[in-house]
Amino acid sequence: MARAQLPTLSHQAVYDTLNRLTAVGLLRRIQPAGSAARYETRTGDNHHHAICRSCGDIVDVDCVLGEAPCLAPVGDHGFVIDTAEVVYWGTCARCAS
Ligand SMILES: [Zn+2]
Ligand SMILES: [Zn+2]
Repeated sequence: MARAQLPTLSHQAVYDTLNRLTAVGLLRRIQPAGSAARYETRTGDNHHHAICRSCGDIVDVDCVLGEAPCLAPVGDHGFVIDTAEVVYWGTCARCAS
């Protein structure tokens, strides 16, 4: 889509820009197992994602407890935990019907 406006735009320039926007917190990068990286503008609220195993659809799921780190591990091995990133895998309503 960006190439329609900027025909000389390279893939590398796009990835560099996405990485930079992610580094400064304007984008959040998510990369489900077996999928290409996705970027979203909903950042900083510790929400999670549900992914359909059948069609690959990804939807936002609100933080279980409302704030990070959301879930506490049974044993933290001395870590100071600040974030829990949960991926719910299943079947979306469209694929299930
Ligand atoms: Zn689906
Ligand atoms: Zn999201």
